Amino acid sequence: MAVLDQLNSQKAIDLENKYGAHNYHPLPVVLSRGEGVYVWDVEGKKYYDFLSAYSAVNQGHCHPKIVGAMVEQAQNLTLTSRAFYNDMLGKFEKYACDYFGFEKLLPMNTGAEAVETALKLCRKWAYEIKGIDENEAEIVVCENNFHGRTTTIISFSNDPVARKHFGPFTKGFIKIEYDNLQALEDTFKNHPNVAGFLVEPIQGEAGVYVPSEGYLSKAKALCKQYGVLFIADEVQTGIARTGKLLAVDHENVKPDVLILGKALSGGVYPVSAVLANDAIMKVITPGNHGSTFGGNPVAAAVAIAALTVVKEENLAENANRLGKLFRKELRTYIETSNIARLVRGKGLLNAIVINDHENSDTAWNICLKLRDHGLLAKPTHGNIIRFAPPLVMTETQLMDCVTIIIKTLKQFEN
Ligand SMILES: *Cc1c(COP(=O)(O)O)cnc(C)c1O
Repeated sequence: MAVLDQLNSQKAIDLENKYGAHNYHPLPVVLSRGEGVYVWDVEGKKYYDFLSAYSAVNQGHCHPKIVGAMVEQAQNLTLTSRAFYNDMLGKFEKYACDYFGFEKLLPMNTGAEAVETALKLCRKWAYEIKGIDENEAEIVVCENNFHGRTTTIISFSNDPVARKHFGPFTKGFIKIEYDNLQALEDTFKNHPNVAGFLVEPIQGEAGVYVPSEGYLSKAKALCKQYGVLFIADEVQTGIARTGKLLAVDHENVKPDVLILGKALSGGVYPVSAVLANDAIMKVITPGNHGSTFGGNPVAAAVAIAALTVVKEENLAENANRLGKLFRKELRTYIETSNIARLVRGKGLLNAIVINDHENSDTAWNICLKLRDHGLLAKPTHGNIIRFAPPLVMTETQLMDCVTIIIKTLKQFEN
């Protein structure tokens, strides 16, 4: 069989199963095309994408402006490495710094790399600015966090599947309960070597846990009081997903260190970044850190286009408005539902909790039925289904999706 032959779904799945490492358990659907809020499988069936590649495709699939920027740049220059300057990186750095209100940007490729970058930056700042003794710096993180898959990042995960048999782990992290200000303050009080607090403004992978109102602003105030860097992982929540440009904007919080990825490229290319002001970023000097592909001209062109689209198409406002509508419609249904317990979220980052124990396969079976009805979503953590469509969705499309979701849930009511 020639590699480029058109595959049917089963053949494509068989190929992945036979030749690919089994590090994912995908919903059985094989996609070959995407446009806006829609994707199509290899048999031509059309679906609403209600995952958006974990919020990487906020701008919609194959956005012509973003793909156009990529194609144009790819025909001129793709990679120089940072051994030389290129004529796109500085433009991207300025554009993103102005856009998010920071003085400096450090470009990487994936979310996990950007998190790693932020951790290294925080530690170096701890020793060189805060004055912590060498190798004594600690970083506070939250239980049920998701920050990526590197050895250091899983060192402070509490997901047994992500950790088991990957030790030994990196030291220097203190885990506290999410959405618990008392625990944060106690930790700061009792651990003078704490240099940073790494937090997701909404815990996405954990099941779209929205913290209490005031949590982020008070956590930021505590960080300030104790001389600790507030490090916001906005890889999933950032770039208009929650109805504001950043999820921290809901509480007017300015992080000391901002981590971005996913929708920074609109899902067409891996682009991530860490932003901070000079007073922090100045600790990074030549040779400290880097990446061959980080800051390449294609990434820079793509990211500028992706961020431009977010503003031009008012995606934050749209996410805010449609998110409210979505939760209102589902809440009304759930009031009389046995199968769905609740809906929660902000903007277009939402989840429903299925009324079954955590290890049941009901959520998975609901997602299979949703697929049959033309809508793609995936369970996160057993009985929770995340709903995160591209932010370019219209109200009519959203209401169509609400109909599909309710129709599907009805088939599971008992
Ligand atoms: C997806 C995600 C990451 C990791 O990004 P990758 O590009 O998969 O490495 C980190 N933090 C959060 C909050 C994420 O959602």
